Parts: sequence; C-alpha cells; structure tokens
Amino acid sequence: VRDVVAIDGPGGVGKSTVAAALADRLGVAHVDTGAYYRAATLACLRAGVPLGEGPACARVVEQAHIDRRGGRTFLDGADVEHAIRGPEVTEHVSQVAGHPQVRRLLVPRQRAATAHGGVVEGRDAGTAVVPDAPAKVWLSADPRERAARRARQLGITDPAEIDALTADLARRDTADARQMERAHDAIVVDTSERTVTQVVEAIVERLPT
Ligand code: C5P
Repeated sequence: VRDVVAIDGPGGVGKSTVAAALADRLGVAHVDTGAYYRAATLACLRAGVPLGEGPACARVVEQAHIDRRGGRTFLDGADVEHAIRGPEVTEHVSQVAGHPQVRRLLVPRQRAATAHGGVVEGRDAGTAVVPDAPAKVWLSADPRERAARRARQLGITDPAEIDALTADLARRDTADARQMERAHDAIVVDTSERTVTQVVEAIVERLPT
C-alpha cells in the first residue's frame, strides 16, 4: 500500500485533473474509479437491461471487460473514452453505480489497478477501494466554481447550458450521497481558489514520508 493516495470529493471539484497530475509526479498509475462506473453504465445501456435492477446490471458488468490504459477507457477492447463522458452515460451513471451488486464487482478491479501504487480518484476511494492507503485527500470547491470547471472541460460557454450543468451537478450530488464518503483520516483541500499545481503541491507537502 505504499505510494497509494486516495482522492475523493464531489463531481467537478477537479479530482481527475489533480489525480492525473499527482500520479504523474509520483510516477504511479492514475486510477479513475468513476470511469469504471461510466463504462459499466455504457455496457448496461447497450445491453438494454433495466438500469433500476441491480442483479440484471451486475450480470452485464460481470461479463464486461473494463480496462484503463494511457488515460483512456476500454470496454471489451474498444476505446469508449468519448462515449462514457457523454450526456446519456452521465445521466444514468449514479443509478447504475448505486447498485451494491455492481459496486461489489468493480471495487476489487479498481483496487487491483493499484498493485504497483496509484492515485485512486472517486467517491469512496479512501473508505472502500483503498481504505488502507497511507494518504487520503478530500477535495471540495464552491458549487459555482465546480460548474464553471465542468463547462470548460466540455467546451461549453452558453450561460443557459452552464446553468443546466450546475443543476446537473447538484442532482448528482444528491444521487451520489449514499456512495460518497469522506474518510475520517482524509485531509481536506479546497480547490476553489487554487490552481492545479497549487493543489498538487498542497497534497505532496502533506504526504507521509
Ligand atoms: O467522477 P465521475 O463524475 O466520472 O463519476 C461518475 C459517477 O460514478 C458518479 O456520479 C458516481 O455516481 C459514480 N461513482 C461512484 N463511486 C466512485 C466513483 C464514481 O459511485 N468511486
């Protein structure tokens, strides 16, 4: 468990960017646990199973080969990075991720990806994926800043669309509340007024030596 860092927090807080930069800096893998739930959701959508049914979703996910390489996500060998970031998957991912049967399948795969160290990013990395990680971080940010970041990430500039993004983040916060958990031993870093480099520095300074 050396060289394992867990980074959790709500959507749009800057987790992915910070986790990628920190993983790069530490020379370990970046494990994006949200990508697993997104790929699982895509597999369920394609299979046409009722997304509200945990056992049915789990049967699909059990057969799905989900892989992350070079910052991209593969489902059964095909690159689905673009598809899993789209509106359809984003709309349904909380529902699929909410099934305990699905989480039971994906958490061990996420943990396995840290065999050679890793920065694990998600909602429950510090509590469920790598609870024995020597370093845990909880990122927080102002809701308006989170929406603005997501908009920049997606290349959206229309104010009405940004309002819709803000509403969508709030909806996902509520939908994800059950699976989002701050580890009691996590350090809290607010990213609202810090650059990525500053956040990474703040984390590196506090890593156990
Ligand atoms: O981080 P990202 O926005 O890509 O995560 C997509 C969704 O996956 C979240 O809204 C949440 O429903 C689910 N998720 C989860 N547990 C994690 C990571 C993500 O339930 N550890």
